[in-house]
Amino acid sequence: MVNIIIGLFIFVIGTCFASFFGVVISRVPNKMSIVKPDSHCFNCDHELKWYENIPLISYIVLKGKCSNCNTKIGIFSFIYELVGGLVPLFIFIKFGINVESILIMVISLILLLMAGYDYKTNTILDIMWMVFGILVLMLFMYRSIFLFIPFKNYLISFAIGSIIFIFIKLFGLFILKMDILGTGDVIVFGLSCLLFNPLGILISLIISCVPGSIIELIKLSKSKEEKEIAFLPYLAFGIYIAILFTPFITNLLFEVI
Ligand SMILES: [Zn+2]
Repeated sequence: MVNIIIGLFIFVIGTCFASFFGVVISRVPNKMSIVKPDSHCFNCDHELKWYENIPLISYIVLKGKCSNCNTKIGIFSFIYELVGGLVPLFIFIKFGINVESILIMVISLILLLMAGYDYKTNTILDIMWMVFGILVLMLFMYRSIFLFIPFKNYLISFAIGSIIFIFIKLFGLFILKMDILGTGDVIVFGLSCLLFNPLGILISLIISCVPGSIIELIKLSKSKEEKEIAFLPYLAFGIYIAILFTPFITNLLFEVI
């Protein structure tokens, strides 16, 4: 029973963070304040009542439309808030509540912010990757000092990750004739190497690159104009899967082999 209450609490907190990130993503690129004015409909300026501003629930109650002018509210915010709730919840189910799991939850939320921001603007703010970097380093140090995870594991992860990343960059430059990976992607990925063992980093890259390249190639074939690719949403997806399923996939591989 206690676990259900904690799980629910974590889910709700996650959706609230995602909802706040949604405000950051829609306002900061337009140089707007994130506190004022209150949330409003972008079409008719109708100011949202408190009950029209509850993550997930409001979208369902309002059936995805503004209550004043009936303009459709995109599904993006609903999916975004759902992911924001589910990922920390799954981390809680897998790791329980301890220093390590709380750090991983916070890291996953910052990753969500960066993925959303990159998706909307094709870039991230320096402050975002800096906060991400500090948190990843804290987790890395905690694991090294208190959980005795050997340092060389991370070096191998970093080496494997870098080789694959350079390969993706060259593939983009010479085959697709475009720069797939921006500076933000490279920094975030480099830091992410400190999160995983070598297999984890492989899983996160494969999971992010395979669907990522298929979706982007389809998009590219439909519109001829050259467009920058937002890679962080795919990378975040790969990192989430690797955080949650690396031991499971490892066991599966060993059974098959
Ligand atoms: Zn409206």
